[in-house]
Amino acid sequence: MRAIVLETDDVQVDMVRPAPIPAAEEVMVRVTRAGVCETDLQLIKGYMGFRGVLGHEFVGVAESGPFAGQRVVGEINCACWQCNTCRIGFPTHCPNRTVIGILNHDGAFADMIAVPQRNLHRVPDAIPDDIAVFTEPVAAAFQIPAQIEIAGTERIVVLGDGRLGNLCAQVLASMADDVLVIGKHREKLALLEAMGLKTALLSDDLPQRSFDIVVDCTGSESGLPTALKLVRPRGTIVLKTTVAGTQTLAWAPFVIDEVTLVGSRCGPFDRALNALEHGLVDVEPLITDRFNLSNGMMALRRAQEKGVLKVLLEMEA
Ligand SMILES: [Zn+2]
Ligand SMILES: [Zn+2]
Repeated sequence: MRAIVLETDDVQVDMVRPAPIPAAEEVMVRVTRAGVCETDLQLIKGYMGFRGVLGHEFVGVAESGPFAGQRVVGEINCACWQCNTCRIGFPTHCPNRTVIGILNHDGAFADMIAVPQRNLHRVPDAIPDDIAVFTEPVAAAFQIPAQIEIAGTERIVVLGDGRLGNLCAQVLASMADDVLVIGKHREKLALLEAMGLKTALLSDDLPQRSFDIVVDCTGSESGLPTALKLVRPRGTIVLKTTVAGTQTLAWAPFVIDEVTLVGSRCGPFDRALNALEHGLVDVEPLITDRFNLSNGMMALRRAQEKGVLKVLLEMEA
């Protein structure tokens, strides 16, 4: 099969990669679409030291198991379901887990992928593949209201106008009136404005220490220091950014202003599928470009260019 494989210091399309062999609890999924995400670009730069097939945002058709022949999306954390962390209900934090396309488990930039059956969700017929491929990042956005209560009256800032920032802003705007997206890219902010969101440029004169919730989706080391300037005393910073390498920061303001810092990662697929089915989140305008899997290297380069939001991979030969 074809696959985009990350080896030490090298990423390439392998046209003759052997198909994965599903483990006991896994089924084979024939991938139809996959999405390139910031995490993939970070992995190529060395984040997590991952080696193998990249890709964790996908939709496909199950080849076996209870969903055989049906379209599915898959949660990316493959838990052991035996350990204490799993038993108390936090399988996404299982210390024995693998993570599809991120940690010791081959990913979805391939014709075939092996996925634990219990990670799979059936895709409602009303959601086309181009939309369903966004389930994983939309679920990550829904993790924010799963972790912190949103009453609807908060002043919320989303830092970052890229792929994840856009989705987080849309999800939060569906439950709160006052959501401001702060970014650096006029064309990406214009897209958010067309969706009905309030935006500002990072270089604008912004009110300091006045927002209840600040969500960092910048994917940049500068995100957290910026969030700290904007959040009010006793406010909450939600950190979505993962950066390869070490960050330094003066931590005293967290103590002095009693700021809550919430790390936020993977989220509920059922809520994401429901939002996509009912059009609560509009993902189609985020698709900047699409490439066949055979041209996977062009897709990865395109995803790193300025002004690009989501790049999709299509698997049709
Ligand atoms: Zn991702
Ligand atoms: Zn476990």
